Amino acid sequence: MLWGSVAFAQSSKLTKVKYCVDPNWAPYESIINDQHQGISKEYLDIISQYTSFSFALVPTTDWKQTLHFAKEDQCQFIAMLNQSPERDKFLTFSDVYFHAPNALYAHYDQPLIGNLSSITSQSIAVVMDYRLYHYLKKTFPNMNVVAVNSELEGLKKVEAKEIDYYVGSYYSANKIIQDASFSKLRIVGISEYEDKLRIGVNKQSEYLLPELNQAISKITVQEHQKVFDYLKATNFVRITDYTLLIGLTSFFSILFIILYFGYSRSVRYSQTLADKNISLKKLHTQLDVKNKQLAELSIRDPLTMLYNRSHLAEMINQQIKLKDRYNTRSCLIMIDIDDFKKVNDTLGHKVGDDILKTLSNVLLKCARNSDIVARWGGEEFVLLCPETDLDEAVLLAKRFQQALKEIKSDACPKVTCSIGIAELHSKDSADEWFISADNAMYQAKAQGKDSISTLNNTHDI
Ligand code: GH3
Ligand code: MG
Ligand code: MG
Repeated sequence: MLWGSVAFAQSSKLTKVKYCVDPNWAPYESIINDQHQGISKEYLDIISQYTSFSFALVPTTDWKQTLHFAKEDQCQFIAMLNQSPERDKFLTFSDVYFHAPNALYAHYDQPLIGNLSSITSQSIAVVMDYRLYHYLKKTFPNMNVVAVNSELEGLKKVEAKEIDYYVGSYYSANKIIQDASFSKLRIVGISEYEDKLRIGVNKQSEYLLPELNQAISKITVQEHQKVFDYLKATNFVRITDYTLLIGLTSFFSILFIILYFGYSRSVRYSQTLADKNISLKKLHTQLDVKNKQLAELSIRDPLTMLYNRSHLAEMINQQIKLKDRYNTRSCLIMIDIDDFKKVNDTLGHKVGDDILKTLSNVLLKCARNSDIVARWGGEEFVLLCPETDLDEAVLLAKRFQQALKEIKSDACPKVTCSIGIAELHSKDSADEWFISADNAMYQAKAQGKDSISTLNNTHDI
């Protein structure tokens, strides 16, 4: 019965997926007796549980062959590698599932230096054509970078004091130090640059990616911990100098603690961070909207929502500049409600306010979209009409007078207005233009109110 259910679970893994690894990159990955071993093996076991794939290793003899097999579709993905523009040409990369530091190694009589930017005139070895090599060349163009053929060669030359430093992958350099029994090397710093390791799927098998990424996102903190435990077990450094051994052991322990806690914290907080980012984006959008509303409100009169005095003043100045440059024709129409004080005194301030609002709406309906309709203050309104000559402005004022007479509302008693109009003349200042319109309005008042004046001419309906 038990066997039956296991057999069923096995057969439910329908899709067989062929993959390759670097056969000589311990402890990240290697092939021993045709068996895949290393960090990427630990991770593929975990990832496989979360997918419908069963992974099958296609053994290769070296990294060059691994890349060739992926290109030729003899394997569908490479289990663990950094992304690079060159590799982007034939692989599509999964999300990062393992971060690995690069460490700086030196002879133990060299002082600790912290990071790459502390290196000045000394020489530093890095494996030729590794991504790290290109990073150093680009980021530190004046650095004395010595290209070596392999990690082993670089570390050997540093121990022999032929080169001052070696920079490379912390886990694999550690493994080489252990295997080759280098006893005079120590870590003197951590590079700012780290390996971000992913699965590289070849172009023909891109369809695998969504499921792989989903599986990577499901890897738990405990599962990452298991891989670190595996590393701890394989990364023991045999060194005869016990001072150095103690130093290195504590260094690695601290590094492990930093990496582990850093990682688990980042897993825990990445979701919270993503949520926070979404809320922050929403807040930004709301803030943007509020700012726009505030900017709009700052140029509006709060009772009528027409433009206010300061915005009108700005628009008048702009119109004067247009006149200077293009000799455009424009008019100011000054409107003052007749005997408004009486309305307030007899019907109350609230009714007065309603009249101001109703009149504003009538004004907006009569004006064109390009006109600026503003409340100058109290019961005074101003219309700035660009591209409008005096006759057209008089027609507009008459339309408005007529519309006022047609208001049908019990709540809003009828009012009349005195209207003065002035066309902008060349060389008029803003004040002069405004005063002309104001004088015209007073002339309309003097002529018995409920009338339109262009200073010398009165236009009654
Ligand atoms: P005239 O025909 O000569 O213009 O007489 P008037 O009564 O309209 O003019 P006056 O300047 O003497 O009075 C204007 C009145 O407008 C005084 C004030 O009560 C009223 N007023 C000004 N601002 C507001 C407001 O925001 N709401 C209300 N309800 N009334 C206002
Ligand atoms: Mg007035
Ligand atoms: Mg008035």
